[in-house]
Amino acid sequence: MEKVKCLIIGSGPAGYTAAIYAARAGLNPVLYTGPQPGGQLMITNEVENYPGYPEGRNGPEMMDDFRKQAERFETVIRNEMIVKVDFSGPIHKAWSESGTEIHASTVIISTGASAKWLGIPGEHEYENKGVSACAVCDGFFFRKQKVAIVGGGDTAAEESTYLAKICSEVHLLVRRDEMRASKIMQERVLNTPNLFVHWNTSPEEVLGDGEGVTGVRIRNNQTGESKNLEISGFFVAIGHTPNTGIFKDWLDMDDSGYLIAKPGRSLTNVPGVFVSGDAQDKIYRQAITAAGTGCMAALDAERYLVETGL
Ligand code: NDP
Repeated sequence: MEKVKCLIIGSGPAGYTAAIYAARAGLNPVLYTGPQPGGQLMITNEVENYPGYPEGRNGPEMMDDFRKQAERFETVIRNEMIVKVDFSGPIHKAWSESGTEIHASTVIISTGASAKWLGIPGEHEYENKGVSACAVCDGFFFRKQKVAIVGGGDTAAEESTYLAKICSEVHLLVRRDEMRASKIMQERVLNTPNLFVHWNTSPEEVLGDGEGVTGVRIRNNQTGESKNLEISGFFVAIGHTPNTGIFKDWLDMDDSGYLIAKPGRSLTNVPGVFVSGDAQDKIYRQAITAAGTGCMAALDAERYLVETGL
């Protein structure tokens, strides 16, 4: 058994930022990276909207910078998963996949969320070569070009109108004859002149030339007819899954599994357990907002330790 003052679960911008703040505050944090060290930015080519990088930065290199900064202040980083927790007492227990039992005075959760994918041919092959799950991150690379985006929720509505400001044509593929997005968002979609909604339409295959995306084969779900759409960017906006399964017996979460923090804070329903990043954010989901909430969680953890004397 190992006792720690601050256990951080997850290694995206939220986890590493929490580590930098917690380490500099003398909390000697131990960070478990999870299955994808660096988080979602590891599958992002170029990050151009993170302040402080005027020339942009490749996602994996950026996360390497985050990790080095956390290590500089002696965060202990383990490339492992936490597979089980027990938040029933004042000391929080966690178990790693290799069997280490950790007793932590504070826990910062930054396990993030994973984009849902369609699982169609070409999708994985062209990931980062024209296929993306984040319009805000990658839309700019397709300026003045034709793109398609799949989904019918608020994310698809928001991202398609965002793309329409940058791209020459946006084709929104909605699998039913209606969208589940809020009315106001739908109106925005329908009133955007270069945004074309294809109802009852599902993508069948992302087409490419080996280097990048050149089109998508789409099927009309009513008639069964297929045709090709010429595009150079293919965006998937069919929802995310927060990586919060191991906390379901202990922490308040919404119907989709997003952890619920006290408004404006990082506090969960369990004293000493804090949440940051996409595990609690289904709206903004940006590296910069994740980093901001990671900072909040570390400051809240530090304050909690002072107040409780743990
Ligand atoms: P949602 O789960 O709300 O919507 C997912 C959409 O993707 C649905 O329209 C669904 O279709 C479609 N879909 C799912 N699987 C497939 C598939 N295999 N092929 C084609 N289409 C598919 O996810 P969102 O990310 O849009 O939103 C998540 C939550 O975040 C919601 O509560 C939303 O309101 C909120 N949000 C709020 C925002 C805001 O307030 N500004 C912005 C973004 C999100 P179907 O409808 O047929 O099931």
